Amino acid sequence: MAQDFSQPRLERRHIRVRGVVQGVGFRPFVYRLAQTLDLSGWVRNDGDGVELEGQGLPGNLSALIARIRSEAPSLARVDSIHTRLCDADPADQGFTIRTSESGAVSTTIGHDSAVCADCLAELFEPADRRWRYPFINCTHCGPRYTITCALPYDRSNTSMATFAQCPACQREYDAPEHRRFHAEPNACADCGPQLSLLEAAGVRVATRDPIADTLLRLLTGEIVAIKGLGGFHLVCDARNPEAVERLRARKGRGGKPFAVMVANL
Ligand SMILES: [Zn+2]
Ligand SMILES: [Zn+2]
Repeated sequence: MAQDFSQPRLERRHIRVRGVVQGVGFRPFVYRLAQTLDLSGWVRNDGDGVELEGQGLPGNLSALIARIRSEAPSLARVDSIHTRLCDADPADQGFTIRTSESGAVSTTIGHDSAVCADCLAELFEPADRRWRYPFINCTHCGPRYTITCALPYDRSNTSMATFAQCPACQREYDAPEHRRFHAEPNACADCGPQLSLLEAAGVRVATRDPIADTLLRLLTGEIVAIKGLGGFHLVCDARNPEAVERLRARKGRGGKPFAVMVANL
């Protein structure tokens, strides 16, 4: 059959990326690159990392591969990229994020990461819907390793699986231009985990503001166990010698220094 020169030549490549590429916004990153480079195809997590197929002009495919390496999200680490040509599908349109492929697992998950500047700005913006929401996160920050029960890294494989996203969170999760696009722990005060304060016996304290109540207790010399993502921190007011002594006695820690937290230096 004679070649049709009226159509630009399409190339399709299967691309395999290994490294720390799950839970770091990698699929949304690839999705946006594909949009920019006018490529069709798909991307998904699997037990080996991230795999994708891209189809478009050969130069754009080369640019995709180069930019996957040079522009990867800040929390990602690309160890290797392997590509091979596959059959182009002239009818293929659009680029999609597919559900994960399960199977043998040999990839790794990123570490938990401190809140990013964008989330911090939202956290202290009274007009923001996540104002003072302590479990704020996005694809650039938040928990990863400590909430992951199994790989591939999908919400259903994390401790967030029991929290169904509210419509507003779901819209962010589904919006390619949003930094919470496919952010697996995405949550807000309406749909995500809540703070609670318990007495030592485990009875919930009726309070509208667990943080303010906790602060008050610390200032009056109480010891509080704060459950974080990776375990408990026992805290007291470091300026209160009696409280520090009581904590030493309870911990059986006579002279070894404690860690001290300060808001700033
Ligand atoms: Zn963030
Ligand atoms: Zn929500």
